[in-house]
Amino acid sequence: MLSQHIKGVGAAPGLNIGQAIWWRKEKPVVETRSISDTDAEVEKLNQAIEKAREQIQELRSIASQRMSDEEAAVFDAHLAFLDDPGFTGEMKNRIQSKKQNAESICQEVTDEMSQLMASLDDEYMQARADDIRDVGTRLLLILSGKQPFDPSLLKPGHVVIAEELTPSDTAQFPEGISGMVTERGSKTAHAAIMARTLGIPAVLGLGEAIRQIEDGDIIVLDGDQGTIQINPDKETEAAIRQQIKKQNEAREQALKEAKADAYTADGKRIQVFANIGSLNDVDIALKNHAEGVGLFRTEFLYLENDHWPDEEEQYDAYAKVLKAFGDRPVVIRTLDIGGDKDLPYAELPKEENPFLGHRAIRFCLSNPDIFKTQLRALLRASVHGNLWIMFPMIENLAEIRQAKALLDECKNELKNEDISFAENIPVGIMVEIPAAAINADLLAPEVDFMSIGTNDLTQYTLAADRGNEKVAHLYDAAHPAVLRLVKMTCDAAEKAGIVVGMCGELAGDTAMTEALVGLGLHELSMSAGTIPEVKQKVRQTDSEKAKELAAGLLSQKDGDQVRRFIQEQKS
Ligand code: PEP
Ligand code: MG
Repeated sequence: MLSQHIKGVGAAPGLNIGQAIWWRKEKPVVETRSISDTDAEVEKLNQAIEKAREQIQELRSIASQRMSDEEAAVFDAHLAFLDDPGFTGEMKNRIQSKKQNAESICQEVTDEMSQLMASLDDEYMQARADDIRDVGTRLLLILSGKQPFDPSLLKPGHVVIAEELTPSDTAQFPEGISGMVTERGSKTAHAAIMARTLGIPAVLGLGEAIRQIEDGDIIVLDGDQGTIQINPDKETEAAIRQQIKKQNEAREQALKEAKADAYTADGKRIQVFANIGSLNDVDIALKNHAEGVGLFRTEFLYLENDHWPDEEEQYDAYAKVLKAFGDRPVVIRTLDIGGDKDLPYAELPKEENPFLGHRAIRFCLSNPDIFKTQLRALLRASVHGNLWIMFPMIENLAEIRQAKALLDECKNELKNEDISFAENIPVGIMVEIPAAAINADLLAPEVDFMSIGTNDLTQYTLAADRGNEKVAHLYDAAHPAVLRLVKMTCDAAEKAGIVVGMCGELAGDTAMTEALVGLGLHELSMSAGTIPEVKQKVRQTDSEKAKELAAGLLSQKDGDQVRRFIQEQKS
């Protein structure tokens, strides 16, 4: 029996223990053969495509029942590849021109296309490379008559071990899986996002060290620390089971208490909201007792479609969310496209530095028709609840004024058309560009609220790409430079008498809750799963002591020191 710790990437939080089961992937050995009847070979490929289509449709329906629309939409991309002239179309052309068997052509085209996409400096395209490989492997398995892994072997309590897991794999996990562990993969991999949605701890990117794991080994995974332990001794195992029990009880307790709104120990109200990315997230948000929505990322409406969503489609989606939250605020962010989020049908020109480029509000202001379609849909939906409209990536005053002028134009149009909308819809901005934080005193008087997007604010302040693993050690939202910008924004909001919130990932970091209250935030918005714990932290916070803590943080030298300082104050 061997007991060993291995370090990887903590991709979905939680501590758990379970029995290892390898998700083995057969790699078909492909031989290249010459063929004479190319039509028959193309027909063989066509049949494989149809079989693959059935399988993917089945996966899509499982995923949409168990996860969100956004995650199920991954399979729409897979279905689209089956009809893509540059992919399966190219395979058919090559079978005819090279007179070779379908398997070898399928392998060749899959390799070429996935390598090309992986080499592009664009996170979205790199994720598509994984999708292409997934679809190509599926076709190859069908063509060569091999059976993929049988997911019915998975039982509750299993920890799934694999070289790599794709969304098609994780969608087939039954209820009760204890965790997932992979050789390759990062925090931003689709599979990691799915694990977070399903609430399964995940440790990815552990490298070849995981090959020593055998079916039946006992695996402890710590999704927060990013470590696994293989076959712990009996004493350690018992201690860990005890810790898991406590973790689950604490979670149950936090969830029970989360029904009530959050106030600090000395009675200051802090609103704890959910970030949502699709309609399916609404349920999870309500179950975790979100007091409203602090960020509704509307991109999914655009990413899911193969055309610009029209006013009616958007109105339906916004109205559903607003109705679900009744009189609770729902902050809907206007389109934040560009950067790493590409829209194939938008035909956005390639940019050298897309994160510094023509994205979000910049794109919307230069495409007023697209922007106004969304604004009209939002205004029309506003009668169904408590809508707040938020503009992303604001850098200067002129942008706010232009966006508000377009909103007024839409209001006038609707009035002329006798279509009703709510009076006094609060209009706000995201503060996620350092200039907006530094000049927050100039911007605040023009808006009703501000929400700090620490995901982008951190990458721009520290010049560290949020998706680049090589600079991940530099990317830290708790860096004092970021916290100083947060403080400037909160002070400006206070002076202008407006609400200030935070909707970047930092808002859901329970180690930082007290500090964020102390910096002056009124509202914290996060992935729904962490709402109960953050509410608990708010209740344990004294707002005056929190101010002292926050002041101390601003003179720390880096993010590590900030976290250490917080720890020391506690002990
Ligand atoms: C942010 O930048 O912090 C944010 C919340 O927006 P997104 O992650 O969608 O860019
Ligand atoms: Mg952002």
